[in-house]
Amino acid sequence: MQTETPPSAAVFSPLLAAQNIYKTYRKGANEVPVLKGVDFAVARGELVSIVGQSGSGKSTLLHLLGTLDRPDEGEIYFEGHRIDNLAPAGCDLLRNRHIGMIFQSYHLLPELSTLENVLAPLMIRHSTLGYWGKRREYRQRAAELLDTVGLSHRLTHKPRELSGGEMQRAAIARALMAKPKLLLADEPTGNLDRQTGEEILEVLHQLNAERSLSIVMVTHDPAIAARADRTVHLVEGRVEQGDRAAA
Ligand code: ADP
Ligand code: MG
Repeated sequence: MQTETPPSAAVFSPLLAAQNIYKTYRKGANEVPVLKGVDFAVARGELVSIVGQSGSGKSTLLHLLGTLDRPDEGEIYFEGHRIDNLAPAGCDLLRNRHIGMIFQSYHLLPELSTLENVLAPLMIRHSTLGYWGKRREYRQRAAELLDTVGLSHRLTHKPRELSGGEMQRAAIARALMAKPKLLLADEPTGNLDRQTGEEILEVLHQLNAERSLSIVMVTHDPAIAARADRTVHLVEGRVEQGDRAAA
């Protein structure tokens, strides 16, 4: 549990903090309460895993943290700023600049090459003119990131010409293009065999160690979770803290 920190002390506050989060899905008269008072925080540079049974609300929580959806109750802070009540444009900006996301399925655009997929968020963010002015710089950064994730030999390949592990590497590079401080990963190895999953985990651990990238990783695999600095368990809509490694 975090100690109380005044909002002005953003530097000392956790990178991300969710307080007393509730989320219920409603469909007609049907109500599915999923999160029932979740408290959760991520320190700068930390790699935290979230585990829980299928249907326990892991993806729901991650979507709320990434402002893809809103909680019914509770508050979420990123660097001391409240983000759960941002207008859509504010959410877009946050995800564009500060929070990267990867998923179990890679969501690459099939018509684009690996390099173009990594560049796509910046092409969308900037006007055509703004993009072309910085094209050389962006392409260089994209190529460097693809090298970092071990994909420099696949720059011109289309997604269908890549393996699952290679597609996830491309998705990681794309998520890092905007230099986010936080990466949210929803079952990033869920579609991969164990060996390939290990390689992707290795990439994530390396980014965490070498770039101080904070990572929240959802997984249902206890062996994967065990390698994180800290594991939180999502049980019956609430968080049970696991053992904390030396922080
Ligand atoms: P997990 O990722 O841990 O498997 P989810 O967060 O995806 O769990 O889902 C938690 C529960 O909420 C499940 O029972 C699921 O069926 C339900 N759920 C998820 N998304 C929706 C939605 N958009 N509408 C209604 N129910 C949903
Ligand atoms: Mg899920």
